[in-house]
Amino acid sequence: MTEQNALSQIYLDANATTPVLEKAADAALITMRTMFGNPSSSHITGLQAKQIMERTRGKAQQVIGSGQGHIIFTSGATEGIQTAILSALCEAKKHLDDNKQYTLLYGATEHKAVPESLRHWNKVLGVNAEVKAIPVDRTGKLDHEFIAAHIENALMICTMAVNNETGVYQDLQALEQTIRTVNPSVFWMVDCVQALGKRALNIAHTSIDYAPFSGHKLYAPKGIGFVYIREGAPFTPFIAGGGQEGGLRSGTENIHGMAALEVIFDELLKTDNAAFASFEQLQTYRTQLSETLKQAFPTITFNHDFENSVPTTLNFAIPGFSSKEIMDLFDAANIRVSSGSACSSKVTRSFVLDAMGLPAWQSESAIRMSFGPATTQQEITEACDRIKHCAQALGHSCLLQHNNTVSEKEALDGLVQFKVGGACCWLFVDGASKSAVIIDPLAELVDRLKTIIQCQQLNVVAVLDTHGHADHESSRIELVNQLDNCDHLGWPKATKSVTLKGHHLDSIQCGDFDIAKLPTPGHTQDSVSYLILDKSNDSEEIKYLFCGDLILMGALGRTNFATSSAAAMYESLLIVKNISDQGTILCPSHDYNNEFATTIEAECKRNTLLNDVLKGQLSLASFVEQKSIVDQQINDESGSEILCGASVCSKASFELKEFSARDLEQHLLQHPTTALIDIREPHEYALHHAQQFDQNVPLTRLVDFIARFGQDKSKELILVCRSGSRSQVAAQALARLGFSNIGHLKGGYALADLPR
Ligand code: PLP
Repeated sequence: MTEQNALSQIYLDANATTPVLEKAADAALITMRTMFGNPSSSHITGLQAKQIMERTRGKAQQVIGSGQGHIIFTSGATEGIQTAILSALCEAKKHLDDNKQYTLLYGATEHKAVPESLRHWNKVLGVNAEVKAIPVDRTGKLDHEFIAAHIENALMICTMAVNNETGVYQDLQALEQTIRTVNPSVFWMVDCVQALGKRALNIAHTSIDYAPFSGHKLYAPKGIGFVYIREGAPFTPFIAGGGQEGGLRSGTENIHGMAALEVIFDELLKTDNAAFASFEQLQTYRTQLSETLKQAFPTITFNHDFENSVPTTLNFAIPGFSSKEIMDLFDAANIRVSSGSACSSKVTRSFVLDAMGLPAWQSESAIRMSFGPATTQQEITEACDRIKHCAQALGHSCLLQHNNTVSEKEALDGLVQFKVGGACCWLFVDGASKSAVIIDPLAELVDRLKTIIQCQQLNVVAVLDTHGHADHESSRIELVNQLDNCDHLGWPKATKSVTLKGHHLDSIQCGDFDIAKLPTPGHTQDSVSYLILDKSNDSEEIKYLFCGDLILMGALGRTNFATSSAAAMYESLLIVKNISDQGTILCPSHDYNNEFATTIEAECKRNTLLNDVLKGQLSLASFVEQKSIVDQQINDESGSEILCGASVCSKASFELKEFSARDLEQHLLQHPTTALIDIREPHEYALHHAQQFDQNVPLTRLVDFIARFGQDKSKELILVCRSGSRSQVAAQALARLGFSNIGHLKGGYALADLPR
């Protein structure tokens, strides 16, 4: 990638919104400057504005083939949807029979605006119909049998021409046949937002009553859209007022938006030399992207059939990677994609793919790549190039099977923390000997761990569980079939022993380190802790203490399972205190609040129950009594999730220095010894980073970093990531563990890159 290319963005999120076509932006600007009149004014400036409006309306009629139907300009599709539903339900309400149960039908994969508006107006107007989702099949096609069975008593049916997440289109002719055979008069709305410019529309030849459209999905600005109303279809204005649009939609018209929209219609009506690529060209683009993706990520699965979806949308999942991970990766390569729809990008799964009955992992890992008719061959070629780089970067950080073996520089050394939901899994590597141990393996991570082991050529000496977990199965067997000579927690039978502060502990060797087992019953009877002991100095020193669910961040492990014992936990806590130091890094098997790891010192500051036990201020009997009260709260609060620790204190929040990009620049000039740390994953860092970083410390390596740099907690560290959220979380964790001079870049790279 050239430096220039690395900086320019490739925008592949057209289904969320599009940039404004340059010609359209020019038309809007000219209109704002010179033809800014109010179309209701009778002077020349007003007449000119009115002409733009009527010209645009005429072209909209041609583009969608609206015949005698009306085109009403709106602010966008959401308003068009309100207009349609309000109109249909106001009319339907006049003819309701009290003895009948009515329904309002909508496709299960519809944009959220549709079911939400149906429910809203159904309630506000007191229609009290049942709002029902029409199921879709595995390919996203509406279930026609369901429609045929439910349409008789339906007041309205809402379907979509093209789905925004998958690009799947419906056969509108077949749908019409199904609907009208049973119910010739039911009101039918078709959301055409994602069809404009991608599917031929000839609306007047159908019995569709209402069809909303949106400008910003096809290179016009946000804030302009239109709705088609079939001739004779009932209409109730959604916005009343000055009587604009013949009284159908009041409010002074968005003339510059219409001027831009007119340019888009011109492009759609052109037969050659248009700014928009032909359908065949768009198909070629999709083939290029999909072939590159398949090559780069051989295990990729596409979440829809290309045969029944528009060529501008690709929705896929890569096994072993969450949507968030792939989005972060692509964002680092300056390719903009989304997980599911833009409106729900904070949600970790897709209701559209769920409705299609796809496996949970496909929904949780879904990535939508969408482009538009104005996308160019150059952009697609560059995108393909960057996709290949993304896969290579994952290969280099041993997250993807790749032919490369790791170089000296990328070889793992130290501790890696993986998380799945609130559960943690730890991988410790002695870099010199390539010996490794895995603690608390998780099924979801098996493939990832296998890839790392193979790529890093690790010799796994043990895969250990800290106890039999209630909320997940140990996946030890899947990871190491040769290690069968061990107990049910994976501890090898033939061991040595070490003595630590008077305690004789079984131990095994992992390169230059000893791993010792310390029984710490309480959470369960079989609970143990594992200690990684550094032998490099004469005495054995605890580097990490993996305490399972004994001490969690802000909590103690629950003790109300059948094999739990609060009394045993009391003793275990005292043993851990006795064998370790205040600052020993405790690595638990759960981290519900993104706090990574802890120490006795940090926990005693906020966990009074623990503090009182360790300071000898609480008797065994009182601990057992208090612990049972705390455990009871978990049962009341946890809902369906099995929480392994009773949270006795809320997540601590520390004052952090927050920098804007500009302040940071200044600050670094004045404080040259400050360390600037990129907190993104190594593959993101490899794809895009400024030169001035002192170090890359991804979240998976934060605990390792704490162990290595814990001696110098007063040094100023400033953390940076993509959006500012990971750096904030990491900075909080460091501050809690006593790092006293921590700051982060608020808003991350995303805002730092903005032109000012
Ligand atoms: N319908 C579909 C299929 C969409 O994709 C969107 C936009 O995400 C909408 C409706 C809402 O459109 P607007 O943003 O113009 O209100």
